[in-house]
Amino acid sequence: MRPIERGPCPKDPNTNTDKVYKTYTEARRDLIDRLGEYCSYCEMRLNASLAVEHVQPKRHHPNLELEWHNFLLACTNCNSTKGSQDIALDAHYWADVHNTFMAFQYVEGGKVVVHPGLTKAQKAKAKRTIELVGLDKTPDKPDASDRRWQNRKEVWEIAKINLKRLENTTDKTNYAKAIVDMAKGYGFWSIWVAVFINHPEVLQGLMTEFIGTYQACFDKNNHYAPISRTNDL
Ligand SMILES: [Zn+2]
Repeated sequence: MRPIERGPCPKDPNTNTDKVYKTYTEARRDLIDRLGEYCSYCEMRLNASLAVEHVQPKRHHPNLELEWHNFLLACTNCNSTKGSQDIALDAHYWADVHNTFMAFQYVEGGKVVVHPGLTKAQKAKAKRTIELVGLDKTPDKPDASDRRWQNRKEVWEIAKINLKRLENTTDKTNYAKAIVDMAKGYGFWSIWVAVFINHPEVLQGLMTEFIGTYQACFDKNNHYAPISRTNDL
């Protein structure tokens, strides 16, 4: 899961004070400007069906319904799986709080698993996060309207093909740029990072060109090794 930075509440250009949203859907444009057109959970690239997501559901926290710091972006599948259950924030990892890249591993076929290097308590928390939005849904748990697993599998294959091409090309600099452009079109940032983990020329573009990636989560002087964002991850 891409660690992201929502940033401070956008300013109203007329008053130069924090924007006050009348409805939460008004924040959609600002969120896309900050985070790109990607689901904050599954990282799918989406246009029309990308919804303003309330981290803490408005049903249980009406005071947070219009609160910038409670917003993320979510696809229909992540949104509906998460539903409106009340959330214990501390029991999960969040893309805008933690270095969520460290919580999960993206493995062959684009499957999302708990990172094996975590402590027992961290593993439990990562597992709850996967279950919260249904990132473990696979063909074993079929759901015809849920294309996330299928899409990840396809993007994994595309990334692998382009890894081979990159290794065989003499013009690595330009091909790395083309790969980053391709990744932006498809989404699933974590898959591209996993596949190109040994190619800093691609990683650099993935970190800087996907809007809203929290770059301090990665050590650019040390092969983009992940860095914890909190005392936990
Ligand atoms: Zn999603």
